[in-house]
Amino acid sequence: MDNSIAEYWNAFAAQELIRPFIMLAGHIKISVDGNQWCVLYGENLQDGVAGFGDSPEHASRDFDVSWHAKLPATPIRPVKPTFSVQRCAACDGTGRAYYDDSTPRGGNYSSERSCNICGGHGTTDVQP
Ligand SMILES: [Zn+2]
Repeated sequence: MDNSIAEYWNAFAAQELIRPFIMLAGHIKISVDGNQWCVLYGENLQDGVAGFGDSPEHASRDFDVSWHAKLPATPIRPVKPTFSVQRCAACDGTGRAYYDDSTPRGGNYSSERSCNICGGHGTTDVQP
């Protein structure tokens, strides 16, 4: 056998031997789940690692992929503001706001005045 071919097969065999499915073979359950083969490491699908496929071979390859899969990213926790003031949401930081006022005759008109929420500063205090 050509040396390079021997090396190829050695490398291939080594790769096969370190497959998660092979390494964990003694701890893995193989079963039929619905219309698919299921390879499972662990107590159940929720807490364990599983692979599915049309054949045990396909399921074992899928298991290898699952073994290297990362958990979905955890939601980012809201970051507490490090500043003591924030832009006033009521007037969008302008300090000015429109208010509907009643006329003596019962009609309404809109007038621009200092924002009631921030007192015209455009910012509101934040409790860090
Ligand atoms: Zn405001």
